[in-house]
Amino acid sequence: MNNENSSIYDFDLNLICDYFSLLQRQGPGSPEATVKALDFIKGLDEDSLIADLGCGSGGQTMTLAQHTPGKITGVDLFPKFIGMFNQNARRLGLEKRVQGLVGDMGNPPFEPGSLDLVWSEGAIYNVGFENGIKLWKTFLKAGGYLALTEACWFSEERPAEIHNFWVDAYPEIDTIPVKMAQLQKAGYAVKACFVLPENCWTEHFFAPQKKTQPLFLSNYPSNEMAESLVKNMRREAELYDKYKEYYGYVFFIAQKTV
Ligand code: SAH
Repeated sequence: MNNENSSIYDFDLNLICDYFSLLQRQGPGSPEATVKALDFIKGLDEDSLIADLGCGSGGQTMTLAQHTPGKITGVDLFPKFIGMFNQNARRLGLEKRVQGLVGDMGNPPFEPGSLDLVWSEGAIYNVGFENGIKLWKTFLKAGGYLALTEACWFSEERPAEIHNFWVDAYPEIDTIPVKMAQLQKAGYAVKACFVLPENCWTEHFFAPQKKTQPLFLSNYPSNEMAESLVKNMRREAELYDKYKEYYGYVFFIAQKTV
């Protein structure tokens, strides 16, 4: 495999899962950003039903649960992440109203029109943004909210190196106005949108990886795939440092209108 051009999709899923299970979160974000996004959502009470799709081990879900009433169901494809999620919920005494389920965000285990809020940080790319926002709307009540983060370009033009890296990893990456128009067209009113601050990447995503990479590598001695995965993740951090003015994650908060 050519490390320069390999993408995360080239790696064994179990290896990726092991790598990310050493971390509290599996994508860029922070408790402050989660709380800020939640601030735009009105009317939640203890009867509210909330889904966190692509929840991972539940870093952001636990923050959400500590700042809002209601019942929260986290859904993730990986049983290992859901095991960690439910352990986190128990540790924080949240297990009565916060539950993790193994499931597919492309076929979420909810009744149509039943949810007050769909949350999803750094995960909708797995089903594609346009597809995901349409699909998930069917599970929201009228007036229900969608809050998610999505990778976006910050300008119309960017250097070829970062353009090619992202288009290969996620061809649907686009500018903020394009994503907003897609939300509006899909039947949402956009209530707010903000760019995740740099520390969501540096302090909360890349720095913890730097700490756990030696442990991960020692769990896979002389394993080329594991070494290559770490190299790939280090390259992602270097590219972010070099090109962060051109792209980042953006929080979108939107309300179902029709
Ligand atoms: N929301 C978490 C995790 C983001 S990483 C955080 O911000 O920390 C993306 C997550 O999506 C991973 O946990 C991955 O296992 C999950 N995932 C990928 N495809 C999925 C699918 N089809 N259905 C549910 N979860 C999926």
